[in-house]
Amino acid sequence: MLRITDILEKTQSYLNQEDLEKIEKAYVFSATVHQGQLRLSGEPYLTHPMEVAGILADMKMDAATIVTGLLHDTVEDTLTTLEQVSDNFGADVAQLVDGLTKISRITFGSQEERQAENFRKMILAMSTDIRVLLVRLADRVHNMRTLQYHPPEKQQFIARETLELYAPLANRLGINWIKVELEDLAFLYLYPEAYQEIRRRVDKKKEQRLAYTEEVKGIISQEIAKFGLKGEVEGRAKHFFSIYNKMKSQGIDFDEVYDLIAFRIILDSDQDKSCYEALSVVHALWKPVPGRFKDRIAMPKANGYRSLHTTVIGPYGERVEIQIRTREMHEWAEEGIAAHWRYKEKRSKLGAEDEQIMRLRELLEVQQDSGSPREFMSNLKMALFPDEVYVFTPNGDVKAFPKGATPIDFAYSIHTDVGHSCIGAKVNRNIVPLKYELQNGDTVEIITQAGHHPGKDWLKWAVTSRARSKIKNWIKTEERKKSIELGRDILEREFKKHNLKLSQFVKSEQMKKVCEDNGVGDIDDLMAHVGYGRISARHVVNRFLPEDLVKPEEKVEKPKAKVTPPSPMGISLTGIDDVLVKFAKCCAPIPGDEIVGYISRGRGITIHTTQCPNLAELDPERILEVNWNVKGKETYPVHMRVVCRDKKGVLAEVSSAISAMDINISHAEVETTPDLRAICDFQLDVNDLEQLNHLMASIRKLKSVMTVERLRRG
Ligand code: MN
Repeated sequence: MLRITDILEKTQSYLNQEDLEKIEKAYVFSATVHQGQLRLSGEPYLTHPMEVAGILADMKMDAATIVTGLLHDTVEDTLTTLEQVSDNFGADVAQLVDGLTKISRITFGSQEERQAENFRKMILAMSTDIRVLLVRLADRVHNMRTLQYHPPEKQQFIARETLELYAPLANRLGINWIKVELEDLAFLYLYPEAYQEIRRRVDKKKEQRLAYTEEVKGIISQEIAKFGLKGEVEGRAKHFFSIYNKMKSQGIDFDEVYDLIAFRIILDSDQDKSCYEALSVVHALWKPVPGRFKDRIAMPKANGYRSLHTTVIGPYGERVEIQIRTREMHEWAEEGIAAHWRYKEKRSKLGAEDEQIMRLRELLEVQQDSGSPREFMSNLKMALFPDEVYVFTPNGDVKAFPKGATPIDFAYSIHTDVGHSCIGAKVNRNIVPLKYELQNGDTVEIITQAGHHPGKDWLKWAVTSRARSKIKNWIKTEERKKSIELGRDILEREFKKHNLKLSQFVKSEQMKKVCEDNGVGDIDDLMAHVGYGRISARHVVNRFLPEDLVKPEEKVEKPKAKVTPPSPMGISLTGIDDVLVKFAKCCAPIPGDEIVGYISRGRGITIHTTQCPNLAELDPERILEVNWNVKGKETYPVHMRVVCRDKKGVLAEVSSAISAMDINISHAEVETTPDLRAICDFQLDVNDLEQLNHLMASIRKLKSVMTVERLRRG
């Protein structure tokens, strides 16, 4: 079991006394809160955080990271609060521990491969600091090393999660040793037979292989030394999982896996050019296999990996795979971001090919300037991981969205119908508004209601192009539907005026021709154009009349549409099949007023008086002549102003004149002016203009009344 002195020993070479004291304090804290807890192995729980801290110390991480390693399970598994961590170890450590607590709650629910990448991205995005991820990886390494104590089912689950999430994450961060160790351990639990078979075969020829390895190493070392290059040559068996993958992907048998051993030339020089020199030495020595040379110095991998790779025909006619790199490249290849973390020197020769590498390099340069590793790490994270958020569906799948996405985007990503009928969402079981911005790790559930439709605001809130185009489409279709309906009504009335029935002509050749002549596709288009007011109904109907009946359009007396009066509430429906008719508030028309209808796109017809000043602002193309068709004794709101001398009893006189005509006063306001006049504004409910005129005439007769007028707004 690792002891605290071991950890301090590992760290004292690069940390100061103050840091060491912090680590010791964290050890005491962790030991106290984990007291009494046991691991499945029967060991005290404390062994786990200690091992994790030890791995981080080997990686030469900073004090905060090692302290976090010691504390990483305290908030999740003990009564410790984040506040306590913050009080004792500072906000920095508390934030790291918080990140780890959050990540540990993500469980890899789905077995589907395609989900793995999203899970990886979510974990990356949730690691607000790369150090969180490094602790998580160290945590996973130790958990995998002690996986034998779990029941088989749990072993399978953790191993799969490791293989699909954590090994690729280690690879992405360029930490090869973690990737290799996690892969082989996961391989052992997931495919025990294949693992044992490969292991057995690798062991079988061990002697032979070792001898061969020594021989090849010797030849290479001698040869490069001849050319004045200093360095060491390594030869080792590849890890089991990569052998397994090679056999599987290339469909080859174990005996054909010639490159079981990977050779490496690690040069002492820090010059890229020595790698190329070593390469030419090797190629002069053994014949290179065409197509097998890869220049990963000129074109590094996305994770920053640099090396030259070649395969040559070796001393026995076998293929030999060789990697050539400087010591610095080697360190990066094995430790990835963890190595970068420590490097102070500026790296200047990363290839320009890969944009990600370019950004990495920029960041490394920034690091030079700022000197703050923390800033570097958070910048690095932003560069590596795009602006996306990752959220869960209720059954644990992960979906990726651009930052700023809302439940609307989520709903449309499931299905167009779910989007259209979405009325709200639950995020982590709480109801949120549709404009809520999704956060990493949210579990999102969409609430739908049949018959619900997208709202106008939705375009403000949706950010994915899928959701936006679906919403726009819906609005467009809906507007068109309404225009078609309206156009059909208008046309029907127009046809009826001439004792014709529109329905009889809808499918006629003549109608087809009318459509063609007007440059529209079909009858629906034509109706939509009439509905929008782009084509007049008269123009269409003329085409169906005998020639002697056709009059020039301007001279035709426009037929008057009939408007059924509104309901007592003042808003009306109907009359003409489902076309919404409403009265403009600005001029408040009442029967008897000269009126016109205005076709508002997709919102039916609004009735204005011909006197309404607002008409001047409206598109004359969409103004429609209409007429009253009053059947019952409906009432309409109207405003009337009476100005009189401010004399006691005048208001009572006016009011009684109004009630004498059985007119309801729905609202009244009286204002007295300094010159002793009273201005009385009434809102009345009248039947029609005649009644209103009659009333105004009778009020004018009152002695104290100076003026009476109908008020119009707007
Ligand atoms: Mn742990």
